[in-house]
Amino acid sequence: MRQLLSGMVLLGIMTSRNSVLSGGVEDVPASSRARQFLSEHEAKVRPLEKAVSLAWWQANISGKDEDFKAKEEAQNRLDAVLADSSRFAELKKIREALSGSAKKADETLVREIEVLYLQYLEKQVDPELLRKMNEKANAVEKAFNVYRAKVAGKEMTDSEVRKLLKESKNSEERRAVWEASKAVGAAVEADLKELVKLRNEEARKLDFKDFHVLQLYLNEQSQEKVLQLFDELHELTRKPFQAVKAEIDAKLAKDYGVSPENLRPWHYNDPFFQESPAIYGASFDPVYAKVDILKLCREFYAGIGLPIEDVIARSDLYEKEGKSPHAFCTDIDREGDVRVLANIVPNEYWMGTMLHELGHSVYSSKNIPRSVPYVLRAECHILTTEGMAMMFEQFSKSADWLEKMGVHVEDRVTLGETGRKMRRNQLLIFSAWCQVMLRFEKSMYEDPDRDLNRLWWDLVEKYQLIHRPDGRNAPDYASKIHIVNAPAYYHNYLMGQLFASQVHQAIAREVLKTDPANALYNGNKDVGEFLKKKVFDPGRSLRWNELTRHATGEDLNAKAFAAGLK
Ligand SMILES: [Zn+2]
Repeated sequence: MRQLLSGMVLLGIMTSRNSVLSGGVEDVPASSRARQFLSEHEAKVRPLEKAVSLAWWQANISGKDEDFKAKEEAQNRLDAVLADSSRFAELKKIREALSGSAKKADETLVREIEVLYLQYLEKQVDPELLRKMNEKANAVEKAFNVYRAKVAGKEMTDSEVRKLLKESKNSEERRAVWEASKAVGAAVEADLKELVKLRNEEARKLDFKDFHVLQLYLNEQSQEKVLQLFDELHELTRKPFQAVKAEIDAKLAKDYGVSPENLRPWHYNDPFFQESPAIYGASFDPVYAKVDILKLCREFYAGIGLPIEDVIARSDLYEKEGKSPHAFCTDIDREGDVRVLANIVPNEYWMGTMLHELGHSVYSSKNIPRSVPYVLRAECHILTTEGMAMMFEQFSKSADWLEKMGVHVEDRVTLGETGRKMRRNQLLIFSAWCQVMLRFEKSMYEDPDRDLNRLWWDLVEKYQLIHRPDGRNAPDYASKIHIVNAPAYYHNYLMGQLFASQVHQAIAREVLKTDPANALYNGNKDVGEFLKKKVFDPGRSLRWNELTRHATGEDLNAKAFAAGLK
């Protein structure tokens, strides 16, 4: 999904242990217990996981209350099994016995147990505490759903707010609408703060410092290392971001008739400055208005040896009443039943979205070998699958890619240059925004009683280079719904982007033997082969950092990303 949490993604995949001895496989009692646990788990949990996927799919297609209820019930049935504390105690013992065993245990078996351990750990919450957390989270989500910005007594929907922020040239009008859109923060602030404390209570019961540390642990990430990576990224992107920001500010200031120093948060094209404002005249929309997006996707993916006909056949791709307006890809059964939900209209946004979602679809049980056991037969990590989806998505803004797809582009040089700038700006703007999200959430869970209003704007000023509103003291952070319903998650998008840049560079170097800046995959089946072998095949057998080394020869780092900004 594009910057949206998919509830389908099971995040329980990480290990704290470093090495698994490789070599000869010899059965030890711990191994037998592990195998038995796995076969019991699979017998019980596999049908429940499939039922959750199907119910999720159905609810999003129909939008009906009864289907949403069925989805919640299916999820509760699965959670109840994973929450079983005696099963968890047994699993914990097996995990310890495997790591303490003098004999070499089968690597795959150790990994399967590790993945299950984290999947169960996440659900080991005191039922009363869980009830309170769900109640608070639901209260906040409901408040978001019913909230409408009110300007001069008139209510505005979210899309009306966004439209106005894209189009209005009137600073006072923009300010009024922006402030009204932020007022949801004040409406949810108290519940959100309580939710944060309850989440911390949960984390401490599981022996973690706070909820942020726990969430990262459940995703095989250490807070310290993620912060190091973000520091490195900040260092590499600071100057190019400054340059891009100055270019954007000059254009916006001119449009609004203010001086650049007087630009405030409401002058950007979306409520959080996470998207690139449209400052260039040229656009890809007129090109895509005349194109069959689905046909391009079919031909492109078939051309690189990763055909998607079966996915298309099972998918639900066009708008209809009651259906979710978003887009996502879901692997129903880890047996190749992979589907995409979308609402295609012929424009650049949906070309990018379809390349993105179908990018998820090729990195699924459709292409992960059946020889990988059920527990590990899924994408390695949320960041690796988002990375692959983003790697393909980038081509929607490439005039050269369109030409190779047989689409004639008028004024190819101008649009090519515009597309290149749009991609670069988007990477820099999104990167700065993710810095704010990661650091804010980390500090908020560390100390929920600090001055969060101020912390938010301190970070926005430092990383996004946006001047805070003068004299305002309001919980503007609380108007970002992800802080409620996708906590400690956002940084994975940026890490996914780094992964995408590294894999793209590896494809350019090893398969296409060309400069990454000009590397197109069109019609080259070796690209698909490379991805299968280097990224898809291991499933979850490797941890995300091991997979990054396996695929690119390096740890996840910001160099390829920074090189791509030139
Ligand atoms: Zn995605």
